[in-house]
Amino acid sequence: MSAPSTANATCISDAPFRAADLEGWLREEDPESLGLLFDRADRVRRANVGDAVFLRGLVEVSNICVRQCHYCGIRAGNAALQRYRMTLAEVLDCARQAWNMDYGTVVLQAGEDPGLDATWVRDLVLAIKAETGLAVTLSLGERGLDELRLWKSAGADRYLMRFETSNPELFRAIHPAKHGQACDRVALLRSLKAMGYEVGSGALVGIPGQTYADLARDLVLFRDLELDMIGVGPFIAHPATPLGQAPLAWRSDQAPNTEAMTYKMLALARLMRPKANIPSTTALATLNLASGREQGLRRGANVLMPNLTPLKYRALYEIYPDKACSRETAEQCHSCLGGRLRKMGRKVGMGKGASPAFEERLLATA
Ligand code: SAH
Repeated sequence: MSAPSTANATCISDAPFRAADLEGWLREEDPESLGLLFDRADRVRRANVGDAVFLRGLVEVSNICVRQCHYCGIRAGNAALQRYRMTLAEVLDCARQAWNMDYGTVVLQAGEDPGLDATWVRDLVLAIKAETGLAVTLSLGERGLDELRLWKSAGADRYLMRFETSNPELFRAIHPAKHGQACDRVALLRSLKAMGYEVGSGALVGIPGQTYADLARDLVLFRDLELDMIGVGPFIAHPATPLGQAPLAWRSDQAPNTEAMTYKMLALARLMRPKANIPSTTALATLNLASGREQGLRRGANVLMPNLTPLKYRALYEIYPDKACSRETAEQCHSCLGGRLRKMGRKVGMGKGASPAFEERLLATA
């Protein structure tokens, strides 16, 4: 496909965004056309979710994982990695810190760890809710419907699970099934929504074997799933993973795992789901520590996820190498991000910061 600069420049009005234009935008290289795209994403962000940037305190609860995802450094097969699982008291301490720092939400993320069993997670959610009242987001991988229901009824507010790629063949190749049971993350996301969770998903950008057309379909799926939260970040090769050791063959229409491609995905995600919450991710900051986060926030994003994981565990949650800010304390992260936001003229969001997409759905079903 030839560069669609002229066509894009003319269709950058505020008319509804057409799925057919997505691949052209992903291939766009002309800085002026991209400037128009990014400006539009920034305007749509301001009009729909405002200037406040919500901070979500991230706690990486366990790096134990039974899965063998070919992209992820904490996969079960990485025998060299020292494993940890935080205690309930440790996680609760982090939630208190989140509350003290005025973060409205705590995000509990982990490998797919059966040791985080249904009642343990339930008790943790109950304790966090009772003590802090924070919004609780879970990101614990593919779990049973009964567990997910139990955690919702204990007060969990949100669930995050990226579908990683909407290309089913590529997904199967990089995300082996558990006990021979095919996993359908898209179906699970729909179930989470039916349970009343505010639901987030997202995709990796530039997985070896992922094409521009695949990324365009990811964007369409963000819209079709009516996601409340969307996370997109560059794929970063980890040497202790199959994709880090022997990447799948690159195709002629391979989408690159670059900062530039991630910004296009962020901007287009904002145009596909104007009222969703969209973080500027740590993976983006890892590619450009100086200004990746800020540039993401100027191209459609409205959320940051400062890390609250205790330092002794932080380096062990190595889903990809050289993760940004993996040696900073929670306090350092807090003041650094606050300073960066002030410099940008953006304010810190107060309260739980549910997405307008979710709030509207609640109203519609009330
Ligand atoms: N077990 C949970 C959490 C996984 S870690 C789950 O599967 O949902 C959270 C996200 O990190 C993943 O969804 C994936 O998109 C991202 N990630 C994993 N490995 C990565 C890599 N090598 N480069 C960039 N992002 C990666």
